[in-house]
Amino acid sequence: MRADIVVIGAGALGLSTALHCALAGRSVAVVERDTAGSQASGRAAGLFKSVQADELRTRLARRSIAKAVSFGDWAGAELEVARSGSFLVARTQKHRDFVLAEAAHSRAWGADVRQATAADLAERVSCYRSSRPDQELAVWCPEDIYIEEPMSLVRAYLTACQRCGVEVLESEPVVSLPFSGGRVTGVETPARSIGAAVAVVDAAGAWVRQVAGLAGAAGRVAVAPVRHQLLITEPSAEVDPAEPITRVVDAAVYLRPARGGLMFGGFEATPLPVDPRELQPSLRTGDLPLDLGVLRDLAGQVAEEAPLAGSGRVAEHRGGLFTMSPDGRFVVGPVPDAPGLWVATGCNGSGFSSSPAIGEALAAWITGGDPAGLTELSPGRFPAMTEELLIKNGAWQYAHYYDPVAEPDQI
Ligand SMILES: Cc1cc2nc3c(=O)[nH]c(=O)nc-3n(C[C@H](O)[C@H](O)[C@H](O)COP(=O)(O)OP(=O)(O)OC[C@H]3O[C@@H](n4cnc5c(N)ncnc54)[C@H](O)[C@@H]3O)c2cc1C
Repeated sequence: MRADIVVIGAGALGLSTALHCALAGRSVAVVERDTAGSQASGRAAGLFKSVQADELRTRLARRSIAKAVSFGDWAGAELEVARSGSFLVARTQKHRDFVLAEAAHSRAWGADVRQATAADLAERVSCYRSSRPDQELAVWCPEDIYIEEPMSLVRAYLTACQRCGVEVLESEPVVSLPFSGGRVTGVETPARSIGAAVAVVDAAGAWVRQVAGLAGAAGRVAVAPVRHQLLITEPSAEVDPAEPITRVVDAAVYLRPARGGLMFGGFEATPLPVDPRELQPSLRTGDLPLDLGVLRDLAGQVAEEAPLAGSGRVAEHRGGLFTMSPDGRFVVGPVPDAPGLWVATGCNGSGFSSSPAIGEALAAWITGGDPAGLTELSPGRFPAMTEELLIKNGAWQYAHYYDPVAEPDQI
């Protein structure tokens, strides 16, 4: 079997890259060890956020929102999107200053971000009630959206891929990357060899380093998997299904309506990283130990304002692995020391929502040689780093997901 481009992993990043390569007229095969969307992508909260820490990420985030809301037009597959908007809320002086600065930058980078009043928040949000409105800063981000069920984006990508002739092979792990003439020339699964005339793209999520390791380049893909969890409560009259997303920056938590109840997730200060050396190829996201206590502790920080987050009966508790990079930015581009091998990872908690634009830009780079600004995200930007430092920096980035207010110790 042959294709111009072979993508490893049918998560959001792999499917979007495959779809955009096919839209550029290339033949594409996707090889997935399990089923499409079965790992991180199918467990996402589905949140898209226009306010980002730098200009490139803002551009990618806003481009992704635009592509998600117009998915049917350019991809020919239906995708339902909740155009809810979102509030960013800060309750401490440090976080008020941070959000104000972030909002000013975001506006300069083109995002629609508006200062809101406590009355705006009270009027539009029922699951979060300000307890100290005089000490609270709220910012309204009307561009923000969410996708109710993350698998619907995966299915939309699959439908669009099918229409473009992308071959998606499920239940086939890539077990080796053949090298010839100093290049990675394709992939091997237990069932077949697939030659890649142009590129092999490693989009294997939490296993991205293991897959790069098949080409001797694990050390060139600087990401550490870190656990993230969320819960959805039983349906409740306290939640208006039409209300916006609310992110409480100082508590590092998010809330949105979900299935008639409340979705609640957050970023604990001492997260559970997985040592990439110990991440077995046999481990599946469903094997990851979950800990409801983490979410209960986070809910305690908004107990007065959002009591349902901590007290509601839990209808679903799910979690998976983020791929955290040392500087909190995506890792996208050609893998150093492994010509022919490209990577799409380093989601840092926003790979689902940035996948439309990342896939588009990466496909343009692979098929047309135009990096469209993505060179800043190349895996080659990181020096060699010990696993311990990788994990430490990854955990730091995770804990400061909403407020990267200080620099990690050493990158
Ligand atoms: C609970 C939770 C909530 C989240 N919420 C959000 C959110 O609101 N917004 C947001 O933007 N992001 C969110 N994320 C992050 C988001 O889910 C990820 O950034 C994104 O899904 C990563 O996509 P991916 O394609 O890199 O990885 P994955 O979806 O994990 O896909 C990688 C695929 O590669 C396959 N694979 C691995 N090894 C091999 C191999 N050897 N051969 C073949 N295939 C292989 C895997 O089986 C897997 O299907 C959340 C994550 C979690 C866990």
